[in-house]
Amino acid sequence: MKKVCSFCGRSDKDVRLLITGLTGYICEDCATQAYHIVQSAGLGEPEAKKSDRFQIKKVPKPTEIKAYLDEYIIGQDEAKRNLSVAVYNHYKRLQQPDDPSGVEIEKSNIIMVGSTGTGKTLLARTIAKLLDVPFTIVDATVFTEAGYVGEDVESILSRLLQVADYDVPAAERGIVFIDEIDKIARKSDNPSITRDVSGEGVQQSLLKLLEGTVVNVPPKGGRKHPDQDYTQVDTRNILFICGGAFDGIERKIAQRLNTHTVGYNSVQNVRKIDKEDLMQYILPQDLKAFGLIPEIIGRLPVLTYLKPLDRDALARILTEPKNSIVKQYAKLFAMDGIELTFSDEALNLIVDKAVEYKLGARGLRSIVESIMMDAMFEVPSTDAKTFEVTLDYARQQLDKSHLQKLAS
Ligand code: ADP
Repeated sequence: MKKVCSFCGRSDKDVRLLITGLTGYICEDCATQAYHIVQSAGLGEPEAKKSDRFQIKKVPKPTEIKAYLDEYIIGQDEAKRNLSVAVYNHYKRLQQPDDPSGVEIEKSNIIMVGSTGTGKTLLARTIAKLLDVPFTIVDATVFTEAGYVGEDVESILSRLLQVADYDVPAAERGIVFIDEIDKIARKSDNPSITRDVSGEGVQQSLLKLLEGTVVNVPPKGGRKHPDQDYTQVDTRNILFICGGAFDGIERKIAQRLNTHTVGYNSVQNVRKIDKEDLMQYILPQDLKAFGLIPEIIGRLPVLTYLKPLDRDALARILTEPKNSIVKQYAKLFAMDGIELTFSDEALNLIVDKAVEYKLGARGLRSIVESIMMDAMFEVPSTDAKTFEVTLDYARQQLDKSHLQKLAS
């Protein structure tokens, strides 16, 4: 008997696969079509999970989250505690059963304020690693209102989908870190008369995303054809962490603190204000004074701050974290069978230079890189078993490096 597909009639020569049944055959195309018909009728198995990669097995307790952060991030206790609680609550909220009493836990998006290089991105990244959820970093400066040159805020979700391997349910539980949120502040506290393309409009479109909405996300690599399908992503359960340096916000904080201390009874009530670190007194109204619209601030209920890194913190960052710069270089050398060490004086010099160049923790890496460049080039070809970076060696390498120019 001639073998043909009982559905489309094509013979076994015209198809790649013909499955044999009791009284007939089915080809691979018809089988696929049949599968889709069953699925769309809602009768099939739920869509197979793309991966188990992003399944949250067990949500760690806030103290466990903080202990994990401590392994990678120096200091910033306040921010760590706030973040641990917010993330813990977020995942509790995801697991909340339908409650007949109507109590619904709301989302706790986070905003972190602190100068550049103090560890905002590192915190968000480390949390995402712990929880094993899709995580993406976007820069708020690239956004403009729809229709203007630049990216629409929806593009945030394309990236999240990408890192989630297009597993939509996984992306819908992910974490998005929006960096440089302060750059979309409007220029003054008063609503402007002229249109403010880069500021308020972008904040408005971001607002919907933060509070939770279903967004049509264009497919991979943008929408090339009008009939290409959008992927629908619900942002209700996506945790947004925003970060920004908010340069100059200390002035707003100082202004507020001053005005509050004037008046009857104030003298007794004045707290001792630490003028060196005004950031610790930050309140939502300071963000408003800086130019974030109140609706956005309302959608970022957890406000926390990061301290500027002092000399001591920089020194610890160099050697202490699990993934510290010194440990990373030691590992690189160990792979060639060489034991790399730094003398204490050399480490001190590195920290001094980082303070001098005012690059924060970011500077540490470039300084160490400049010192190690020649050694990384030469030492693997020798039969050395150890290599010590001494003060003299470090100084000599820095003197001939281009970094020197940064100091001037
Ligand atoms: P931000 O997002 O605040 O501008 P990052 O988190 O990107 O800063 O920090 C830049 C780099 O500096 C990080 O990769 C990290 O190596 C280092 N770093 C900054 N702050 C800390 C910290 N508190 N503890 C450990 N490393 C830090």
